Amino acid sequence: MWPPDGIGEKTYQRGRARDRAGQLIEAPWVRGQGWYWSCVNNPEFRGLQVDRARWALQGGAKRLQHDDCRAAIAAVSFGGCWCQYCRQRAARLGYDLQSQMLAFQTSSTVSYIKELRARIGTANGHAVLMSCNNFRMKLGIPHTLFDYGMCEIDPADAALDVLTKTYREFERLNWMQVVTLRSADIALNRATIARVHALGGAMLYPYNVYMPSGTRFTADSGSIVPFYKYVRAIGALLDESRFVDQPSASYLFAESLEALKRARVGTIVRRAGTQTVLHFVPAAAGRDVPPVDIRVAAGPGNLVLRSAARPDPQALRENTFAIAPWDWTTLTIGT
Ligand SMILES: [Zn+2]
Repeated sequence: MWPPDGIGEKTYQRGRARDRAGQLIEAPWVRGQGWYWSCVNNPEFRGLQVDRARWALQGGAKRLQHDDCRAAIAAVSFGGCWCQYCRQRAARLGYDLQSQMLAFQTSSTVSYIKELRARIGTANGHAVLMSCNNFRMKLGIPHTLFDYGMCEIDPADAALDVLTKTYREFERLNWMQVVTLRSADIALNRATIARVHALGGAMLYPYNVYMPSGTRFTADSGSIVPFYKYVRAIGALLDESRFVDQPSASYLFAESLEALKRARVGTIVRRAGTQTVLHFVPAAAGRDVPPVDIRVAAGPGNLVLRSAARPDPQALRENTFAIAPWDWTTLTIGT
């Protein structure tokens, strides 16, 4: 929400929001840097955003991400906007800026995003997919005006039960969610990559991630790349998979469930066509954890095992096998 005033320009003055005294305003998290917040009702800002989108598309961009998509809604928490354009629009639509700033700026933000998308689409000759930063996977106005979400999440959001509940809802709403994790814990990054992809989403490679401490984090590639190779190897299976209302207990013997619990390995059950897909997603565990013995209440004739460490399909001759708790193992049941 603080685009520079033009290509190569390092000023942030055009089309900006103003407080009641007519001064430019800054977001609290970048205060003092001179990156003044924009006003969605200012036609100069709207034009600037369309120009930026066109430059990106002309430069080869296929999709666009809108950061700070709550725009004028977010700015209400640090004063709202009282500029001439906001005053004029509020008067025209019957809003009182003193008592109805949030409702007014919500309406203003929706209007801005709809117009931006219409103008970009027209400019490019076809629909341009746009994502938004829906921080910590929030979904409401104005996020639903975009095609999908792409945001940072925190370790608390990456717990398997939290992700499962969230992605079940996303699947119901036909919403695609891409995340990146704000944690330097490699084991947790590996676990989250496996969980998110197994649940039907996607996770960006942990590159230059903005951490809660204000520092940046990039993962050591050797520990992360095998999981992304595995996403590619089983991509068709992931794309086709949908939630089923069957717990892993329906497929695994009790002693296997206990062993998984002790090793803190999670399970995700999905369905892909005629196959049941059982993911064993890693705990935030090191490689020194011993293998876990698994006994499946099916097969063995229709059991196929793959893992990030061994992605080639392996047809099982019996219904027992072992998994490594630090690996991402996938068992398909059925044909
Ligand atoms: Zn304004």
